[in-house]
Amino acid sequence: MNILATIPLPLQVATVLLLGLTFGSFANVCIHRLPRKESVVSPRSRCPSCNTQIAAWDNIPVFSYLLLKGKCRQCATSISTTYPIIEAVTALLILAGFIKFGVSWKFVIFCVVGPTLVIITAIDIEHKIIPGMITLPGIAFGLVAGSYLVGFKDSAIGLVAGGGTFLLISEIYYRIRGRVGMGGGDIKFIAAAGALLGWQQVILIIFLSAFMGSVVGLAGLAEKRFSVLSQIPFGPFLAGGTLVAYFSGERIIHMYIMSIIGGY
Ligand SMILES: [Zn+2]
Repeated sequence: MNILATIPLPLQVATVLLLGLTFGSFANVCIHRLPRKESVVSPRSRCPSCNTQIAAWDNIPVFSYLLLKGKCRQCATSISTTYPIIEAVTALLILAGFIKFGVSWKFVIFCVVGPTLVIITAIDIEHKIIPGMITLPGIAFGLVAGSYLVGFKDSAIGLVAGGGTFLLISEIYYRIRGRVGMGGGDIKFIAAAGALLGWQQVILIIFLSAFMGSVVGLAGLAEKRFSVLSQIPFGPFLAGGTLVAYFSGERIIHMYIMSIIGGY
């Protein structure tokens, strides 16, 4: 029988949210330290302003921020709202994954994938890079997890199809414009996403991210907010597309195929 069914639903939700907040806290550490090539394991977090080591009880996700009213206990310097937002978003993502996938390998895999997408989005927005320290292990993880999710063959084809497509686009762009348009980080990311979800869904991710990127790009152009369109990092859209595909990719592809062959 299902042990989980004996646990009251509010307790399940609370447990999953706490798990998600913990992942969110670790995501913050990665977002802050990976671009600076610092260890994400040690040392303990310090206040960026006064350098005081942050006590464990002042480092509880979201709650500490609210209790300290967004200020460092020692020097009262404002702490960026990014920290609690990252924690809350990660926790809600993990909860959404739990509701959608239940206790399953797909949920366990999502506990790695979800926070990683948050980390990539935050780092790419701030630093305009997707670190190879995430995408290269991501490709290896994608192959292993993808072999479970879609089978090794589709996973391997997804890796080559995703990475190959972006490599080709990047090469064509470079030949035409004479400068790098698509970064190596984007190419490695889509290779990892392809390995994770297979070749059918990597096509979907490319379409979704290109669509979302175009909408935001055109909106920015209309508002004249982005002086140079190519400066918009593509990572957040790739992450968004991957998220949609992870949750609903099979369904979207099924509906698309049905609409073509007239199944509806
Ligand atoms: Zn401080």
